[in-house]
Amino acid sequence: EVKKNGKNGYQFYTRELHAQLQEKIELEGDLRQALAHGQLFLDYQPQADAETNQIIGVEALVRWLHPKKGVLSPGVFIPIAEETGMIYELGTWVLREACRQMKEWHDGGGPLITVSVNLSSQQFHQANLTKYIKDILEETGLESRYLELEITESMMMDPNVSSGILNELSESGIRISLDDFGTGYSSLSYLKLLPIHKLKIDRSFIRDITENVNDKAIVATIISMAKHLNMDVIAEGIETKEQLDILVDNHCSEIQGYYYSKPLSATDMEAMFLSGKVLVPLKSEQV
Ligand code: C2E
Ligand code: MG
Ligand code: MG
Ligand code: MG
Repeated sequence: EVKKNGKNGYQFYTRELHAQLQEKIELEGDLRQALAHGQLFLDYQPQADAETNQIIGVEALVRWLHPKKGVLSPGVFIPIAEETGMIYELGTWVLREACRQMKEWHDGGGPLITVSVNLSSQQFHQANLTKYIKDILEETGLESRYLELEITESMMMDPNVSSGILNELSESGIRISLDDFGTGYSSLSYLKLLPIHKLKIDRSFIRDITENVNDKAIVATIISMAKHLNMDVIAEGIETKEQLDILVDNHCSEIQGYYYSKPLSATDMEAMFLSGKVLVPLKSEQV
């Protein structure tokens, strides 16, 4: 009987795996279509100055309007794009669209803020990255200082490689932000060697910050370290006023999260610019 269950369990497992594989193969094909048929779009999540509450930038986040499955999040299809090499084409589309849109907003009287674009490791290591990005900036007309690239610590594993790339980008006036900071494995020594403009504290440290004294200590330390290294610091994933208050108390300069704003469509972003409104009150005393 045990044997039988085991066998059924095994069959179930392979069937399940088979279905997953099938689904993945389908999505791969669909993703090629998506690129060709304009099914990708960008949402923009505001980033705000923690003290003045003014918007200082937006992060471009890619989505896929799948004809049958509806809107898919990047966690579903970025890994497929990376495995299949489609990440180059996808990444180029994202960069061009983000720069084009920000230039359009600047020209249309919107605030002179930055747009942050996430780079995959493969993109970061592609040949002539700086030239390729400069071409996109030239083509779209966006000034380099308004583009920020979000990279992760894992791309800094070999500082000999990354320093060359980062120095080139930085000399072109493009800003670099270290995304998901605190979750990688790399040593801190690269922070003083590399031209990194901003540390982006990972959401996992913010989530329990109101109850967890260790998270609070880590966040306070990252903020302080960033200041001493002359870097900007932004906390991501702020969902509540209580979390925000702790960050403001610890002099975190910038914030991003659902509490300030969820990622918005380009149209909703424009409505926000037009309203000229500060989205949420800051600390209780200031309300
Ligand atoms: P990320 O760069 O760390 O982006 C932040 C993610 O956290 C976004 O998820 C955003 O919607 C979500 N988020 C923001 N504020 C909050 C909050 O207060 N609470 C919670 N629970 N979540 C919040 P999203 O859009 O699903 O993106 C997931 C990841 O996919 C991104 O993480 C990034 O690594 C990747 N990604 C997104 N767009 C691109 C892209 O164009 N290219 C590449 N290579 N990766 C991208
Ligand atoms: Mg990011
Ligand atoms: Mg992040
Ligand atoms: Mg992330």
